[in-house]
Amino acid sequence: MTASMNTHDEKASILLIYTGGTIGMIENPETGVLESFNFQHLKDNMPELKKLGYAVSTIQFDPAMDSSEMGPDSWMKIVRIIADNYQLYDGFVVLHGTDTMSFTASALSFMLENLSKPVILTGSQLPIGMLRTDGKENLITAIEIAAAKENGVPVVPEVCIFFENDLLRGNRTSKINADNFNAFRSYNYPPLAHAGIYIKYDTQQIYHPVSRKPLKPHYLLDRNIAVLKLFPGISPQVVESILNIPGLKGVVMETFGSGNAPCYDWFLAMLKEAVDRGIVIVNVTQCSAGSVEMHRYETGHKLLKAGVISGFDSTTESAVTKLMFLFGHGLTSEEVKDHMNCSLIGEVTIPDTFRP
Ligand code: ASP
Repeated sequence: MTASMNTHDEKASILLIYTGGTIGMIENPETGVLESFNFQHLKDNMPELKKLGYAVSTIQFDPAMDSSEMGPDSWMKIVRIIADNYQLYDGFVVLHGTDTMSFTASALSFMLENLSKPVILTGSQLPIGMLRTDGKENLITAIEIAAAKENGVPVVPEVCIFFENDLLRGNRTSKINADNFNAFRSYNYPPLAHAGIYIKYDTQQIYHPVSRKPLKPHYLLDRNIAVLKLFPGISPQVVESILNIPGLKGVVMETFGSGNAPCYDWFLAMLKEAVDRGIVIVNVTQCSAGSVEMHRYETGHKLLKAGVISGFDSTTESAVTKLMFLFGHGLTSEEVKDHMNCSLIGEVTIPDTFRP
């Protein structure tokens, strides 16, 4: 970690995009169920917003959405808002339900090409109106990070998730806890910043755009993707029905350990047949941390021979949204495989020794 940078820019302008989620929810007095509420509820419960010293503007999804109902259309909506307002603000904070926040963060990282400003997603486990809420701290720190500049340049020009003290690269995250305030992890990439008394940025880990090209927003995503999670005893019917979904283009296959799967003849034959039909099958591990290495065990090696490609240390969230993005742009299976074998925006670590 480098020394903390106190990079407050008094006049920084931030656009707060409220999409929904617990942070702005309120308890229905009759049923006790948490329901999305008008953004005004958030503002009323957070007078601190005005005290921050930044010019914070807000925009909200109408209706606010539980993140379990979000997907490509909502991601496009967020991208559209950011693209339309890109020149007007120094940074963007997206308030989002925690359940699918990692998918949204991954998708946005691919859809916002040449991003040179912070896009910080955050939310909370308890509604902002509750006494013990984690929402206020998350929101205030996310705004500070979105506003942070060093020599006039944004400190974190990336799509990130800030949650409970840590700033994480969005396309490296997964939600790992349904109860705790500390709900997100990035097991295969270090935090970009830690917020204690000061916000300490790890500048070595932060991605900075190499070119000064203008933002290029993307709106094309292909939903013909499936996730095949292996388990001991998986039946041919399950595998066959997934690999034969009409229109299917890509599969993220969650395997065991360092990318291993059963060596049943029927299984390998089904995979090979699907690959021969042009379906891209990406091997990611079910383990929370570590990378797929298909050369390591015979079981992994057989997958390689069947035409399965490695997802290396990608999260499922990142692999799914990357496939949606690549197929959405009309790439052929071979082109998609080439792009899966490289890092587009820091979402995967490709070993130096890797030869496609
Ligand atoms: N169900 C909520 C959502 O993801 C949970 C949360 O916000 O934490 O929208």
